[in-house]
Amino acid sequence: MTAHAMSAVRDHASPGRTGPAGRALDLRGLTKIYGSETVVQDFRALIGAGEFFSLLGPSGSGKTTTLMMVAGFAAIDAGQLLVDGTDLAAVPPERRGFGMVFQNYAIFPHLNVFENVAFPLRARGAPKALVREKVAAALDLVRLGHLAERYSRELSGGQQQRVAIARAIVFQPPVVLMDEPLGALDKNLRYEMQVEIKEIQQRLGMTVLYVTHDQEEAMNLSDRVAIMSRGRIEQVGAPRDVYEHPANAFTARFLGEANLLPGEVVTAQADGAAFRLAEGTLLRTGRPGPRAAGSGQLFVRPEKLTLRREDDPPGEGMNRLTGTVRRTSFLGNVVRYAVETPGGALVTVDAPNMSARHHPEPGERALIAWSPADTAILPPDAP
Ligand code: ADP
Repeated sequence: MTAHAMSAVRDHASPGRTGPAGRALDLRGLTKIYGSETVVQDFRALIGAGEFFSLLGPSGSGKTTTLMMVAGFAAIDAGQLLVDGTDLAAVPPERRGFGMVFQNYAIFPHLNVFENVAFPLRARGAPKALVREKVAAALDLVRLGHLAERYSRELSGGQQQRVAIARAIVFQPPVVLMDEPLGALDKNLRYEMQVEIKEIQQRLGMTVLYVTHDQEEAMNLSDRVAIMSRGRIEQVGAPRDVYEHPANAFTARFLGEANLLPGEVVTAQADGAAFRLAEGTLLRTGRPGPRAAGSGQLFVRPEKLTLRREDDPPGEGMNRLTGTVRRTSFLGNVVRYAVETPGGALVTVDAPNMSARHHPEPGERALIAWSPADTAILPPDAP
């Protein structure tokens, strides 16, 4: 992609702008009710200009419905939607001027690649020379300049999705909405396309609201992620924050593998807590986490744990638990162990696939060790 292509796409929509081309999006308590069911409840987020913001959650958690309210395809039952301070609730979808990319947003089969991408510009009455320039720049951005004459049946899935992306950004919309745009692609291509989408978004300074149920995709792409469950936001934050500091067991489990061991807080100070597992073992945390008293769940990610021989204890101050290896799963880059502790809990340990590591077999005893700094206490599961 050339610098010229980049500035040609950028300059068209925002002449003279030097900051991000995207606009700020203020979702103030968006609510959607179908029949007697509130499928999105009081969704609040202030999304900054040029921010990549993702809605992540299981199927049915209200992600698409939230996006459809922002797009204007679903009426807002309560709440407000503001772009740079202007309320859009009464503005029809085509007048909101947002770019959109959907999983099955088929590109027009009767138009070639060039005409597909030109479509939004022609609909806005852009002069011919400008259309040529903008389309060439957008196709250059998605690396499809050489396929401008092709029709959709002559394109791979990844290429078709690139056309959809070029069409969504060619008129430099203030906000781009994407709903599972990579859902139909295979894993490797999906990762490649994530890198491309991120690069385009950053270079153009676009504001993106992105829907996915794929936690790795959300973490890879986003400045911030809103984790949704049953129509509500469970937690919002930067990917690393949400992953390392989940607010509750739902977020902990949804963003990757999590060990959650029930027990009681024994003492809690600002710099850490002592926690007793139901079976009696005393463990420490480097921070109390959201739970500073009473019963709760000790949280630690599997990759923070190391497996050692029982006669090879870790250094002073490390948490330790002994158990019996019940299962090993070879996953390529890591070996995943299920270790049964005296209380009967199965603890998941992810060990990097390195020959220097201790790799016990099923049936063997092992010592699990980890740092209190990687440990937090979360509230108990709701009954
Ligand atoms: P997600 O995108 O997280 O999978 P959706 O926003 O598509 O979730 O759906 C959230 C809930 O709203 C689901 O229970 C779904 O069945 C319901 N729902 C979505 N659209 C409609 C509709 N048009 N009429 C009735 N219920 C709907």
